[in-house]
Amino acid sequence: MLNVGVLDLQGSVKEHLNSLSKIKNVEAIKVKYKDDLESINGLIIPGGESTTMGKLLDDFNIKSLLKERIANGLPVWGTCAGMILLAKNIHNQEDTHLATMDITVKRNAYGRQINSFMTYELIPEISNKKIPLVFIRAPYILETSSTVEIIATINNNIVAAKQNNMFVTSFHPELTDDIQVHQYFIETFVKTAVC
Ligand code: GLN
Repeated sequence: MLNVGVLDLQGSVKEHLNSLSKIKNVEAIKVKYKDDLESINGLIIPGGESTTMGKLLDDFNIKSLLKERIANGLPVWGTCAGMILLAKNIHNQEDTHLATMDITVKRNAYGRQINSFMTYELIPEISNKKIPLVFIRAPYILETSSTVEIIATINNNIVAAKQNNMFVTSFHPELTDDIQVHQYFIETFVKTAVC
């Protein structure tokens, strides 16, 4: 059984737990406190609001240990605000949060809430079937270092990437019934780290 955590501070936590519950041999675990990090084989950082989530990481005193676990190879997937939390650089903003991944992200890159959208795209790295992609006040990646692998671009904007044990998406697979991206995270990152 693989224990996959969902950072339970703010945002689309129950939606990720629900997607994970559809995958065999995976136990979904809420992660809020330092101790919760001990038993997990991978972690999802959900979408939500990155400034709030960043503050809560401090309030719950989990930030430095989480950063250390990621630096030591804990498989992690950041969706939307989760991508912002993992970025080493945030465009037009001094503060960063976990700052573990060599990417520069632009927050709210598609405009306001009203500019949120959904599209279906083929992302060969993830699946040979089209995937529904939901963008809600989403960031995209402006720059990557040479060790970051770009997984998906839409209209020339980078919306999915990976670096070592870290995976980020601008979009929210947990807000759809499609579990292909969750399966990809588990197969490509969590299982290989356990083996
Ligand atoms: N706009 C949010 C932020 O900057 C992210 C939006 C999301 O996670 N859906 O934190």
